[in-house]
Amino acid sequence: METLRFRKNKVIKISEELFPDELCERCGRCCILHAYKTENGLEVVYCEHLNKETKLCTVYKNRFKYGCLTVMEGIMAGVFPKDCPYVKDLENYEEPWFYRLIKEEEKNK
Ligand code: SF4
Ligand code: SF4
Repeated sequence: METLRFRKNKVIKISEELFPDELCERCGRCCILHAYKTENGLEVVYCEHLNKETKLCTVYKNRFKYGCLTVMEGIMAGVFPKDCPYVKDLENYEEPWFYRLIKEEEKNK
């Protein structure tokens, strides 16, 4: 629908102005969709467009066509880890619950 696309473009523009790309540390952690414990350890599910080796998005320039969120939408949906530069100073921001599992796993390494 044209109206929705127009709004999405507006959201993207505002988001890009408020949250410049340069702040991103390219850790790829906001591209984690889910994490859960299995018998063999922690299973981390990444977005299919993330290159897990480089931690970079393979469709970055066109990512919104693939349903990726703007930073503004990502903050509202709570997809960033708490120490991400885009949210680290937001007092009431809550990171996704599965980061607890990821941190536990990292501590045990
Ligand atoms: S979690 Fe933050 S710093 Fe890491 S890739 Fe995502 S936006 Fe960039
Ligand atoms: S489309 Fe790219 S930036 Fe968006 S979640 Fe997937 S890998 Fe990350």
